[in-house]
Amino acid sequence: MYWKTFDWKSQKVGQKGEILNKTDYKCGFCKGTGLMPSKKSTRCPACLGAATVKVSSPAVICAYCNGEGRSFLNRDLTCIICKGKGVVSVSSRDIEPCPACKGRGRERGVDLPCLICKGKGVVEKKDENLALSNEQ
Ligand SMILES: [Zn+2]
Ligand SMILES: [Zn+2]
Ligand SMILES: [Zn+2]
Repeated sequence: MYWKTFDWKSQKVGQKGEILNKTDYKCGFCKGTGLMPSKKSTRCPACLGAATVKVSSPAVICAYCNGEGRSFLNRDLTCIICKGKGVVSVSSRDIEPCPACKGRGRERGVDLPCLICKGKGVVEKKDENLALSNEQ
């Protein structure tokens, strides 16, 4: 039995802030070509030429780079949040848009990643009843 996958045929993986349950994604940095976008003779630094990347689930689209996988300061560099994958794993399925950056993953007015969500654009919902902790 197959789960219905969202947007299986379209290029889009999902919406920002939407929980993704796959573990294999098309590499965001090279768009699945396996090559560096600006230097076609160079392997993509994010997927090392594999064209796909593995991200442990649950995951979300990287808000900081909007799933592009690129640093917006320098398009030849990979995003520091998702390492060029375009997708970042999150620790919980119970997430909400980051209240500090409104889900953009960036500090207001500057180009630094939001300190609250660490550039992911989402934070865990604060619910003590659901909080699972491995701390002793
Ligand atoms: Zn790649
Ligand atoms: Zn990113
Ligand atoms: Zn934030």
